[in-house]
Amino acid sequence: MKITLSWYGVSTFKLEIDQYTIFLDTYMDRVPEADDVGLKSKDVKKADYILIGHSHFDHMWGADIIGKNTGAEIIGSYETIRIMSEEGVDEKQLIPVAGGESIQISKDIRIKVLPSQHSCIWAKSGSSDDICLGDLNLDIRQRMKNVDEFLNKMSGSDESPLSNTQKHRRETDQGVRGEGGALAYVIDTLKGRILWKDSPGHWRGIINDIKPDLAILPSAGRGNIDGEPIQGSLVDFIDKEIELIKPKEIIFSHHDDWMPPSTKAYNMKPIIESVNTKYPKIKITTMEYNKEIELLN
Ligand SMILES: [Zn+2]
Repeated sequence: MKITLSWYGVSTFKLEIDQYTIFLDTYMDRVPEADDVGLKSKDVKKADYILIGHSHFDHMWGADIIGKNTGAEIIGSYETIRIMSEEGVDEKQLIPVAGGESIQISKDIRIKVLPSQHSCIWAKSGSSDDICLGDLNLDIRQRMKNVDEFLNKMSGSDESPLSNTQKHRRETDQGVRGEGGALAYVIDTLKGRILWKDSPGHWRGIINDIKPDLAILPSAGRGNIDGEPIQGSLVDFIDKEIELIKPKEIIFSHHDDWMPPSTKAYNMKPIIESVNTKYPKIKITTMEYNKEIELLN
C-alpha cells in the first residue's frame, strides 16, 4: 500500500491511497492576493471521494465543481450535502453524515465519521500564544451576532470598487447556515490510522484515545472544547488536543495566510516549541503547497 498527501492551503489535502484519490476539503480557488496553491478545483481530473469537515467557504468551496467533473462521492454534514444538491451535484454522489457512520472504501480502507466542534469564531482570539479568556456560556443569539460581525469584518469594506476579498466573499456565498456542524474523520488503512479534522475544536469524550499514526490538525483561531472557548491560548489548545488524541505524528494546517489582507499567517514557532517540549516523541512534519509527501512508511 502506498499513501501520499499533498497540501493545497487551509485544511485542503489530496490523500492518495493506492488507486483511491480522496480530497479532504476542497478550497483551492482563493483571492489573487493569496499564494497560489498549485491547483484549481476545475483542474482536478480524478477524485473518488470528497470529505468535507464543515460547510464554511474556506473548506467546501469547489466541492461541487470537483464532484461534477469527477463523479466523486461527497461525504459531509447534512448542510454540506444540502448545498451540494442545490448546486446540482447528482444525488447518487451525496452521502450526508452526522458522526458515527463508517464508509468502507475497500477491504483495506475504512473511514469513520466523528462529531466535532468548530473553533469559537464568536469569541475573542489572537495570535498563537495570546492568552484569551472569557466568552463562556454566551446565549446562542449573542454568538450569532458575534459571528456576523466577525464575518463582516473578514469580508472587508464594501465600498466601490469592491475589494477582491469582498468579491470573493460574495462569489463563495452558497447560502450556508452557520458552519453546518463540524466533523472529524478517522481513516484506517493497512499502513495505519490517519485523523483529519479541519477546525480547532473537539468533544473531549469523542477524540480521547484515538491514537492515530498521523493527526492532521488545524491550528488557527480560538479553540473549542466541548462547546466552549478555551481559557488560554492556541498553544494551550493544541497541547490539550494532542494530550487527548495521542498521535505519533502531526501535520498542522489552516495556519497559512489564505485570504490576505483579511487573514494573517499564524506564527507556528510557539506551537511547535511547546509540542517538542511536552511531547518529544511526536514527530511534526511540515508541508508546503502542492509538494506531495509519502505517509506512514
Ligand atoms: Zn470554519
